[in-house]
Order: sequence, then structure tokens, then C-alpha cells
Amino acid sequence: MPRTSTKKNVKRYGKSKEEKSGARSKSKSFHKLRGMKDILFDEYKYWELVINKADKLAQVYGFKRIETPILESAGMYERSTGKETDIVSKEMYSFTDKNGEKVALRPEATPSLVRAYIEHGMFNLPQPVKMLWIGPLFRHEKPQSGRLRQHTQFDLEMFGEEGPVADAQLILVGYNFFRELQVNIQIQINSIGCKSCRGEFTGKLLAFYKERGKRSKLCDDCKKRLVKNPLRLLDCKEDKCAEIRAGAPQIVDSLCDDCRNHFVKVLEYLDELDVPYNLNPFLVRGLDYYNRTVFEFCPEEDESESGTRQSSLGGGGRYDGLVESMGGRPTPSCGFGIGIERVILKIKEKNIPLKKDTENYIFLAQLGEQAKRKAFALFEDLRRAGFNIRQAFTKDSLRAQLEEADRIGAKFSLILGQKEIIDGTILIRDMESGIQEIIDYKKIISVIEKKLANGEK
Ligand SMILES: [Zn+2]
Ligand SMILES: [Zn+2]
Repeated sequence: MPRTSTKKNVKRYGKSKEEKSGARSKSKSFHKLRGMKDILFDEYKYWELVINKADKLAQVYGFKRIETPILESAGMYERSTGKETDIVSKEMYSFTDKNGEKVALRPEATPSLVRAYIEHGMFNLPQPVKMLWIGPLFRHEKPQSGRLRQHTQFDLEMFGEEGPVADAQLILVGYNFFRELQVNIQIQINSIGCKSCRGEFTGKLLAFYKERGKRSKLCDDCKKRLVKNPLRLLDCKEDKCAEIRAGAPQIVDSLCDDCRNHFVKVLEYLDELDVPYNLNPFLVRGLDYYNRTVFEFCPEEDESESGTRQSSLGGGGRYDGLVESMGGRPTPSCGFGIGIERVILKIKEKNIPLKKDTENYIFLAQLGEQAKRKAFALFEDLRRAGFNIRQAFTKDSLRAQLEEADRIGAKFSLILGQKEIIDGTILIRDMESGIQEIIDYKKIISVIEKKLANGEK
């Protein structure tokens, strides 16, 4: 049933520009920190939609939800995410607490989940252990990047499964998540091999970049990468680096037999499941712990914006050595993270309509002091009887109350006035047709039940 009252009012509460705050230096009010965001009423419905989708979908595939603390030991991220990564070396919110311990606001989810897996002896559980995790992450990103410094991620991790079926299942869940939210994505996928075959490839890559004249054309970051992390030369976003990269050797050509077989099987599963993907030989992901399969969910580019590579909505991969390197038993694992804020932005950009509330709201309106008092009690009776009852007791005008009923999409309104109280009746108004009936006050519940049942035909 179409209702016109739900207007697009996303912007009603205003998008405050952090930058504005400097101008009002005399003002005594406080402002949220740069890169932080409030989620107001109108936006919250998007959050509910996305988080419910993540939650329901993950549970169908056997992932169970867990939570971990926001604050962890900083050393944990240095060891797992990697000391040399931008995340740890530049972006991590870390500080020394009152006991002199170096702690950090978690910049990513996987290390905490690995820690929890080891600390709670989850290798004793039937494997694989499949975790669903949703929570905030903190990174002190450069202000000009327009990225949030606190953002929320939906994470799935699968511990103790070496087979390519695990990688394929993760990608499938991610694919279904976006598809069911009507966000068009492309899956980029690559294999970065294992320690042994990657070592060989890195040698070839270095030899390529050391050829005459190439090094001097690279950006400053890439010059450092040549020494610290050559693999990352492949995913530099700078145009000049991308140009040189086009002729670089491809890692898939250097995979050992085991890594190649694993990758081929992942792709076969995806073919079988009709999950489309693009092989991207330059996808490496910026973290130290990945091996073999890496993948990203990238927004499908509109023709109008082609040429500008949009940042991915999420990604992940396999990390077979991470549990062991963090002090656990050897446990092949894989996982992904999807940025909730970016997904919501996409849903809003594309104007994807939210599914209408299918709740059967009943609105209770009152007119006059005596009716208001009686309506208070009636409201509680109806709420306890299990109805989705709503009210606007602070409003006196009947018109304003019915507007509110319309705004929330109520099916029926009950209207109680002075005359109805004297007669022992109440009015029931069908909000769709506007037709009103007088009913016996004592029969309210049975009448509503009958009307709701009829509406569900
Ligand atoms: Zn290998
Ligand atoms: Zn570069």
C-alpha cells in the first residue's frame, strides 16, 4: 500500500561540517571530534537494515556472533597487523595507560578475534569455528581523505579450515549480502601464494623494478616499499606507479602447485555458485598476514564515474599463519571485513528504497483532558495485549495526532473524545481509506484483532 507521507528527510538534522567548528571559537558548546560521526534518527533505519541483513545472513551459514573489547594491547597489532603497515605505524590510536601499559583502540578486527580464539581454547571446539563480529574500529586517517576515524565493520572469520570451500563460502556470503541490499559490486580476487612461492615472486618483482629508470619514476611511498614490502608496489594508487606496474610480472605465474590448486578450486566453487568475479593480478591487500586467496568487494562503477577507482566496500583473505604467529596452534583460517558506513552511503546514493515497515501500528489519539487520562490507561492495556501501539499524548490537536499516525504508517487510529467516554464507545479510523466506525469500548481488542486478521489476507 503506497503511502506518500514518508518523505525523504535524510538531511533534516543537517550534516555538520567539522570544519565549521573553528569559526565559532567563543562558543562554549562542544563538537564531535574530527572524523567521528553521530548517527541520528533518520539514518538509524539504514543501520538496522544493514546490520540485520549481516546478522541474519551470517547465521544462516553457521557463523555465530561474538564481541571483543575495544581496547587491546598495542603490541598485539604490531605483531599481527604488522609494524610496518600504515595502520599500525601511522593510524593507530595508541597510548600508555595509567599502569604504563601500551594499549590501542582496535584498528582492525581480525587480531582480536584470533586472540579470542587462542585465549579461549577454541581449537577444542569442532572446527571450523565460524565467527560473526560487528563493531567499531579506529584509525587516525588523514583528514583530507574524507574517511571516518571511527568506522563500523561487519566481519566474518573462519578458523581451522584449510580447504578452498571456506574461501568460497566467505565470498558467497559477502556477495549475497550486497546483492540482497541491492548494492552492485564487483568481486576482485587474486592469490598471493604462500611464504615459499611468494619469496620467489618478490625476487622477480624486485628485479623488474630495478631495471633502469623505473625506480626514479616511483612515488615516495613506493620507493620505501621497494625496501620494506615490495608486494605493495602492486596496489599503489598513484598513476605513475600504475603505469610502470602494467608490465610487472604477475604472481599467479609464480604460484607453487599447492597454492595454484587451491586458487583454482576457489574459482571453481565460485563458478559453480554463479558468483561473478574479476581476476585482479595487482590485488595484494595491505596487511602482513595474508596468504593465498585475497579478495575485495568493489562498488560497480557507473559509466559516468568510470576512470575513478572507488575504494572498496570491504575485503579479506586467507591468513593461514596468523594464529600460530600469535601464539596458537597452526590453524589455517580466512575472513573478511565490510565497512558498514560505506555500504549505507551506497544505499543512499542509489536511492534504494527501504522496505516499508510491515508492522501493524495502531495509533491511539485523544481529545480533551478526561480522554487523555483514560487513553493513558488504555494505551497500557493495548500494549500489554501485544499490539504495536503508538501515541502522541503531548499533542492536543486531533489533526496533529493523526498526522503523526500517518507519518509512522499506522494501519488504524483509535480516537477517544469526551462524547465517546460518555457513550462508552471509541472511534476506529482506517488510515488508508479514512473510514471511521464507532465501536463498543469493551470490544476494542476483539475488533482490532479481527481487522488486523482481515488485512493479512
Ligand atoms: Zn605456495
Ligand atoms: Zn606508488
